[in-house]
Amino acid sequence: MTGNLTFGIIKPDSVKAGTTGSIIQRIIDDGFEIRALKLIHMTLKEAQGFYAVHRERSFFPGLTEFMSSGPCVVITLEKTGAVRAWRNLMGATDPAKADQGTLRKEFGASLSENAVHGSDSDENAAIEISFFFSQIEIV
Ligand code: ATP
Ligand code: MG
Repeated sequence: MTGNLTFGIIKPDSVKAGTTGSIIQRIIDDGFEIRALKLIHMTLKEAQGFYAVHRERSFFPGLTEFMSSGPCVVITLEKTGAVRAWRNLMGATDPAKADQGTLRKEFGASLSENAVHGSDSDENAAIEISFFFSQIEIV
């Protein structure tokens, strides 16, 4: 896995709101190449596994319940410096603090329902990509 890959989720709030297509278009327009993409509906257990690093946090039960509340789109993205580039396009965790032009500013409703997820390091990108995709699913 190189530093040019990252992992993202179009979260259940976005899929429910019908903004999946708009978000994917913004990803393409920003110069990312999509290497893998699928619609999934996580069980609570799967969401707990994915967010295991946050298991001691007060928001963990709400976060994992939300992430398993409906379908989401998981995606592997390629771009030079992908982790940072994708986090820049997403914007700050809290949509109210996100910069103009970011996805969370445009599509996020609240700190917990903030439209998209992105890996925070190359190491976690590799872990998260392989959590959701097998090798044959990555083009
Ligand atoms: P993500 O990991 O989803 O890309 P992030 O890296 O910006 O977001 P984290 O600190 O990793 O933020 O938190 C993971 C997710 O948990 C956030 O995206 C948000 O939905 C939720 N979250 C974080 N902090 C809080 C909080 N104080 N209250 C409620 N939800 C929170
Ligand atoms: Mg995070």
